[in-house]
Amino acid sequence: MKTVDTLIHARWIVPVEPAGVLYEHHSLAVNQGRIVDLLPAEQARAAYRAGIEHELDSHLLMPGLVNAHTHAAMSLLRGLADDLPLNEWLNEHIWPAESRWVNEEFVHDGTQLAIAEMLRSGTTCFNDMYFYPDITARVAASCGMRACVGLIVIDFPTVWAKDAGEYISKGLAVHDRFRGDSLVQTVFAPHAPYTVSDQPLEHIRTLADEMDIGIHMHIHETAEEVERAVELTGKRPLQRLEELGLLTPALMAVHMTQLGEGEIRRFADSGAHVVHCPESNLKLASGFCPAATLAAAGINIALGTDGAASNNDLDMIGEMRTAALLGKAVSGDASALPAHTVLRMATLNGAGALGIAGETGSLTTGKWADITAVRMDSLEAQPVYDPVSHLVYACGREQVSDVWVAGQHLLKERRLTTLDDHEIMHRARLWQERIGAANRTGHAGP
Ligand SMILES: [Zn+2]
Repeated sequence: MKTVDTLIHARWIVPVEPAGVLYEHHSLAVNQGRIVDLLPAEQARAAYRAGIEHELDSHLLMPGLVNAHTHAAMSLLRGLADDLPLNEWLNEHIWPAESRWVNEEFVHDGTQLAIAEMLRSGTTCFNDMYFYPDITARVAASCGMRACVGLIVIDFPTVWAKDAGEYISKGLAVHDRFRGDSLVQTVFAPHAPYTVSDQPLEHIRTLADEMDIGIHMHIHETAEEVERAVELTGKRPLQRLEELGLLTPALMAVHMTQLGEGEIRRFADSGAHVVHCPESNLKLASGFCPAATLAAAGINIALGTDGAASNNDLDMIGEMRTAALLGKAVSGDASALPAHTVLRMATLNGAGALGIAGETGSLTTGKWADITAVRMDSLEAQPVYDPVSHLVYACGREQVSDVWVAGQHLLKERRLTTLDDHEIMHRARLWQERIGAANRTGHAGP
């Protein structure tokens, strides 16, 4: 008998790799944070002695969800300004509120709130873009969450840096601080084509090549963004980025609602990734990412929630459902984006976009044990013919019972083990009082 740290016996396991497979009455063996075996439960009981054994006999085990686009700390601005178009929402509400409120304490408290919400929704890894990425990284590492932290770059001054040069140099310092960390990695995060000019983009591309890290950017979010760029530069943003050499497998292009046929072909040829954020696009009426068409063209499509100010939750189970439903509506094809495909988008494709598909994103021997368990025994989930279909079309995130990241049990029967939920709620209420009071007296920003 071999000894392992943990054995998890489950009613169902969807490993995502191989595609479309569902195991019944199987077990995962975990040792030193990694998956060492996936085998029938009877064989597992005979072959392994475990320090801890979990009997999840009414649960579906799946790879932890990868939220491929977040602004985690913006959870503190959830519901502050809703029902507004993107431009007005950003220019008149979000940016003024950020310039007034964002500081180290805000990012710390907002990121803790976001990670608590994400863990309770089955997410084990998030790809973030925000100010003070050093704090986001520290908070994630300290509670055991996997994170890809964006080194944000914008032309104009904010509380984090005064110009593109300073954003880049402060970002490089964050990269150095977390180099070699098994939970935290960094990528460049130039905000968008309309907020970052050519010179810093060229600099970022050169550095990203040298450092072999990714580039995470909002691209073609709305028709208006594309039209204004054409007026100003004579070029669509994607063409400009292509000429600057940014269309490579390192690029994670978020949103991508405005795409012509030629653009889709060139994007597919480049090996760059799309991060689809259907709920944010719907809420801000930004447009529809043609996800099924992009998938058919061979583009790797990951899934993200965007920040809680434009979604307004960080619920990847809900996001899978919206992606599946919207994919069918936009393509006029009910067979587009089936349940197994959107689960892959929310797990392995996300890991692929982040360049860590060899480390996480599926329940495969050798990968980190990033695992989510979803209960299937509630009244609302009966009967269970197909648990993967249920996961996408019938389940809510409240059915997530347990989450492990690198084998560490971070959510135990819905209780957070490394975060203090009372303290997080208390801090969120303090921010609500401060920001809410200022908002009511009409001083949301400078
Ligand atoms: Zn965003």
